[in-house]
Amino acid sequence: MHTMTSKELQFAAGAVAQACAIARAVQTELTGQALTKDDKSPVTVADFAVQALIARNLAGACPDDALVGEEDANTLRTSGAEAILGQVTAYVRRFAPDATPETVCQWIDRGAAEASGRFWTLDPIDGTKGFLRGGQYAVALALIEDGRVQIGALGCPALGSACYDAPDGPGSVVIAARGQGAWHTTPDRLDDMAPLRVSNHSRPRDARILRSFEAGHTNVDKMSELARALGAEAEPVLMDSQAKYAVLAAGAGDVLFRLLSPKQPDYRERIWDQAAGSLVVEEAGGKTTDLDGTPLDFSRGRTLAGNRGVLASNERLHDAALAALRTVGA
Ligand code: AMP
Ligand code: MG
Repeated sequence: MHTMTSKELQFAAGAVAQACAIARAVQTELTGQALTKDDKSPVTVADFAVQALIARNLAGACPDDALVGEEDANTLRTSGAEAILGQVTAYVRRFAPDATPETVCQWIDRGAAEASGRFWTLDPIDGTKGFLRGGQYAVALALIEDGRVQIGALGCPALGSACYDAPDGPGSVVIAARGQGAWHTTPDRLDDMAPLRVSNHSRPRDARILRSFEAGHTNVDKMSELARALGAEAEPVLMDSQAKYAVLAAGAGDVLFRLLSPKQPDYRERIWDQAAGSLVVEEAGGKTTDLDGTPLDFSRGRTLAGNRGVLASNERLHDAALAALRTVGA
């Protein structure tokens, strides 16, 4: 059992727990509606409502801290988006009665800060495609200081407390603080956290591989070659979002590969897709690098410009996973 002390840790845990409630409400009440962003990816009422609420609450809890969020309010401000903005505002108002369509847009746009020095980074709904499909998704919030992730928080509404699929359960909140550890609990029990620890599997044949559900976010052919090169006997587990990192940290998976899609070989990871999850894994005793074994560098702005993909593991299997990556040329 662990009780959080610092103001920042308490803010992060409370923020993702509240966001879990909004996300679940949107998911059950508004079935599967999405807008399409300029990059063709989907965005929902939940993405906007979560970013608005967390940005508002950050200004109250840590008024000097900047926010780098995935979303902006441009789409919501266009004519024709009034109904969606109205829905977003109604969800935010459940927790922030002062919300109006105008303040909601302003709060969302607080996420446009520069990614340098000390700042928080937020993916309000990581795995939006999983959210829409009824798969896994996560609210991911991290505090970065001078390129180092100091706090990572994941709210995973469809993950059980022992970190398995549980769409109808209470959901899971996972918190990590650099040098202190990683813990999990349910969104309604933030004062009672249990430690997370990666598995002790060290034989490659026992490696349980985690990968993206979306084929377009990885390299499906190479993934099969990789599993063979590593000698892993079990089929890889397909899962959306940073929920994968929670599963790895809980010891329910051993190796996580984010291979580059052959269609987007120059894709660079977004910091909000990796910051919280990577600290959760490391503080649970695991290791994260990119596919070449280079440490993830969070000092390069909004993307991991100096890294290629991600490899996360229980640490014991990291070298074997890197060797397998070299063997298949991934
Ligand atoms: P996952 O659920 O593991 O598929 O990861 C979801 C995240 O992948 C989303 O938040 C996107 O930001 C990110 N993403 C989008 N396109 C790509 C891509 N081509 N390669 C890797 N990740 C991507
Ligand atoms: Mg994301």
